[in-house]
Amino acid sequence: MMDADRIFDAIRDRSGDTEFYLPLPAGYKLGSAKYVVVLGTVMSGLGKGIFSSSLAKCLQDKGLTVAPIKLEGYLNIDSGTLNPFRHGEVFVLDDGTECDMDLGTYERALDLDLTRLNFTTSGQIYRRVLDRERTGGYLGRDVQMIPHVTGEVKNHVRELAVATQADVVFIEIGGTVGDVENAYYIEAMRQLAFEEGQRGVCFVALTYVMEPSILGEQKSKAAQLGVRRLMECGIQPHIIACRAQNPVTRKVREKIALFSNVPPDRVFSMHDCESVYLIPDLLRGAGYDKAVIEWLSLEAAVDEQVEQQARQAWSGYAARLRDATRQITIGIMGKYTAVRDAYASIIKALEHAGVHLGCKVQLRWVDTSEMTDENAAAALQGVDGIIIPGAFGTRGAEGKIACLKHARTTGLPCLGICYGFQMAVIEFARNVCGMTDANSTEIDSECRYQVINVLPEQKKIEGLGGTMRLGGQDIVIKPGTLASRMFGTRTRMRFRHRYEVDPRYLGRFEAAGLVFSGKSPRAEIMNILELPVDVHPYYVGTQAHPELISRPLRPQPLFLGLVHAALRRAYDEYDEVLVYAAEANSTSAPHTEQVG
Ligand code: GLN
Repeated sequence: MMDADRIFDAIRDRSGDTEFYLPLPAGYKLGSAKYVVVLGTVMSGLGKGIFSSSLAKCLQDKGLTVAPIKLEGYLNIDSGTLNPFRHGEVFVLDDGTECDMDLGTYERALDLDLTRLNFTTSGQIYRRVLDRERTGGYLGRDVQMIPHVTGEVKNHVRELAVATQADVVFIEIGGTVGDVENAYYIEAMRQLAFEEGQRGVCFVALTYVMEPSILGEQKSKAAQLGVRRLMECGIQPHIIACRAQNPVTRKVREKIALFSNVPPDRVFSMHDCESVYLIPDLLRGAGYDKAVIEWLSLEAAVDEQVEQQARQAWSGYAARLRDATRQITIGIMGKYTAVRDAYASIIKALEHAGVHLGCKVQLRWVDTSEMTDENAAAALQGVDGIIIPGAFGTRGAEGKIACLKHARTTGLPCLGICYGFQMAVIEFARNVCGMTDANSTEIDSECRYQVINVLPEQKKIEGLGGTMRLGGQDIVIKPGTLASRMFGTRTRMRFRHRYEVDPRYLGRFEAAGLVFSGKSPRAEIMNILELPVDVHPYYVGTQAHPELISRPLRPQPLFLGLVHAALRRAYDEYDEVLVYAAEANSTSAPHTEQVG
């Protein structure tokens, strides 16, 4: 009999008069799901998301189904209202959830489409508890952090287990042990382990081994204290991952083992690695995956053949990334461009396309706040293509329009994303259609030609959180266009916007040569624009965020197209023709063909 069954026995028929609170989702059986919980100690910024997703990938590669979840400590309901220049980009899931950029790391590593169940914040947990209180859900009890708030956390991860039927639910706790914000998550995990039984939960503590240059050797004290702090919360880690610059010595690992009740063969080094794609192999080499499988008694579910294939695909990617001989430079036009995390998915999407086409993509960050028609050419000197990324507000808008004009008139490959797409429409209206006072009402609500206007459905919405047009939407593709070569007749991308091309002006734009090659099937919402290939080698924009769906082994076509056009511009002899997956009429990844 499991301890949790004993609790149930004890509280049965007590009609609420009990200290225990154990809500379980319908269909959930205690002890049937397996959990890995990753917790950070010592300090943040150690790459917990990358570590967790790599470890989850090791398990997935073995043929197990994994369902990752990130538990965020902050009180915001979602990440939608967070400033990307403070917290990194706002990642958007297909179901419209606005979440932490770590979910992007998981989606790319695991090639999964995640949902709102794969993410929660303290704000959401508290909101659920408070809503339940208002509807009398606690039967007259005082509502407490323990057991009610912690009960809600357990309920959420178990809901994920039921919904996905995953072999392993992979839980990453945001922040580090000792933070006030995540203390109740950690307490919830302690309870989860007790209720699910000894082998139901595997705790992995990520810690940090210092190597101060004045000493020239690794010191384990901070790591020991960090792990001890976790043990004070009643959690005995089963695996310890030691982040460090260099491989962690046996002596240091033994010392950490000695102070933490973890056998030395489960205290691993997790040192810096030249590429994130090599981390899964580093973890496998060290034996992390075996340690997890063994602790959770999952040996029977492992499929070695699947593992072999998955490893080859990933290490092939890493090798192509490393060995690429050609190089192109893509300019990214934004504001505060120094903060790379704000554009994490765009950087990744360019990398995916680059690896596919065998080139390294060098990035050039260009601040457009001071840019004009006069200095744009000089600022873009030497770039082989540009991206105008998503944005909000007015800053840098005129500079972006200047860049777009330069790109359109000089044949510089260009991809406009969301706001960048809207700026491309404004540039075209002003400089081709002669609507000199064209603008977006987000920038100038009094302008004469309001070519970018609030979406009709957005006019009645109040409040800022979760109210944009969000998430995956289908797109119908116009035959005979570049987009149709990329996507065939239909595709789907994720959105996050409040403004759109005002359909009243479509006739004028199209008459002047702008092609809207992707539209929403339900409303007059323009999704993709392009200039015909005989006018410009690559001038494309999209109202969507294609960067969010690009995956290492499935590069997103709009990025492929940009990188390909940039290669043709950079290398005179480069004459490969890009064949998109849709064109090749197969589901395999797109490829290139040598001409002649
Ligand atoms: N600010 C624009 C809008 O709301 C673009 C948004 C974006 O780029 N994500 O439509």
